[in-house]
Amino acid sequence: MEAIQITNILYLVSAIAFILGIKRLSHPKTARSGNLLSSLGMLIAVIATLTYPGKEFDFTLILSGVAIGTVIGLIFATRVQMTEMPQMVAIFNGLGGAASAFVASSEFLSSPDSPFIIVCLSVFIGSLTFTGSFVAFGKLQGFISGRAITFKGQQVTNAIIALLSVSIILAPGLFFESSIYAGYLNAFYIVIVLALLLGVGLTIPIGGADMPVVISLLNSYSGIAAAATGFLLGNNALIISGSLVGASGLILTNIMCKGMNRSLANVIFGAVGSETSSAGSTQQEMNIKSYSTTEAAMILDAAEKIIIVPGYGLAVAQAQHVAREVADTLEAQGKKVLYAIHPVAGRMPGHMNVLLAEANVSYDVLKDLDEINPEFEDCDVALILGANDVVNPAARHDESSPIYGMPILNVDKSRTVIINKRSMNPGFAGVQNELFGYDNSIMVFGDAKDMLNDLLKEIKEL
Ligand code: NDP
Repeated sequence: MEAIQITNILYLVSAIAFILGIKRLSHPKTARSGNLLSSLGMLIAVIATLTYPGKEFDFTLILSGVAIGTVIGLIFATRVQMTEMPQMVAIFNGLGGAASAFVASSEFLSSPDSPFIIVCLSVFIGSLTFTGSFVAFGKLQGFISGRAITFKGQQVTNAIIALLSVSIILAPGLFFESSIYAGYLNAFYIVIVLALLLGVGLTIPIGGADMPVVISLLNSYSGIAAAATGFLLGNNALIISGSLVGASGLILTNIMCKGMNRSLANVIFGAVGSETSSAGSTQQEMNIKSYSTTEAAMILDAAEKIIIVPGYGLAVAQAQHVAREVADTLEAQGKKVLYAIHPVAGRMPGHMNVLLAEANVSYDVLKDLDEINPEFEDCDVALILGANDVVNPAARHDESSPIYGMPILNVDKSRTVIINKRSMNPGFAGVQNELFGYDNSIMVFGDAKDMLNDLLKEIKEL
């Protein structure tokens, strides 16, 4: 067997590992092994590339890169909180896009006869992903305003930049002296500059609350850039893995949009979150009833069926373990306890499932939106832990609300709704939640972990 055939077989094995790995990532039970399998696939692909027949590599340079990357990766992997995952993915995407653009650039600069369209496609998408991802990171991390930053003529400016870029990529001869390398070189540099500008231009008008969707979309772009670079290099592994990232990023984007009942166009061009929305009742208008944990414990003591609704705040407080202890104690007292999981609770799909799985909550009691909503009708207490937008009834009836149309957990149908959060601050979408003023709602203010620890003591004593 020829050496190149062995390389291609190794690439095929790595592609199979990626596909099976992604499949296993779709369930918390198998996600760890899926991650491991995909990593193994990547290792095989790297080995196959470094032993590529007929290629010479500077191993000192490569191993230095591997060492630096491993250290940075290890630090981030151990330090980054689950709630900061979208920011981390944004950095990954940005660097992935930049890497594709660099590889394509070096290929073009070293062999000017490389196919110009493919070079530019890779460089264009890679550069756009780079700046777009870093703006998204800055917004989520609070380095730049999380609000949608808009100005007059913004979309026209973006459209002109996009159109100009596409025209230069498809017909550089129209703009520059054709068939002369120097002319195409100028076109190449201009495409890079336009793409960097477009990445910023497309991301700044999007509000922070929509950033996870944008990050997932940029993830898809980084895959497309990698696939384009794969075509340029004639590297099958890069084509396959880039296409997988491109497709899975797009599927994730679609899941998030569906979870919010918004179109992708509305997320990208809707500028939701440009100003703090006045939609929803103001705090003064609402009849807020603040209860102590002792009072909440007494309400729970009288309940038979309880539905726990976890949200972003539970993840921030890292209160998943004590939440499970509370649930276990209530169950031991003969009550029925279920968990309601909204598809976009937290900051990414599956966030709550992973969080609760970490605390060994059984998958059988985790119910998704369609399954749990009818259950609220005969539920005694809905216990909301750091969730806000995903339980806002305004999404059902208030057309002026930015979250109008988003499917929500119908917690308000329960006999009593106990809401735990630290203050009356709004959630990610920036709107006040009318639920807090409902007659059957009571608030128990405080950090979720502290509150649940107190609650646990109280219910054990009752
Ligand atoms: P929200 O962001 O709406 O609300 C979280 C609440 O948690 C806040 O109101 C906050 O109130 C409270 N909180 C924060 N820290 C703590 C703490 N330590 N203890 C107790 N409470 C705390 O979260 P949801 O999960 O309800 O909704 C998710 C939002 O993210 C939605 O708007 C959704 O559209 C959006 N989104 C989600 C995506 C996903 O895939 N998951 C993707 C795109 C967007 P306070 O500060 O008063 O404590």
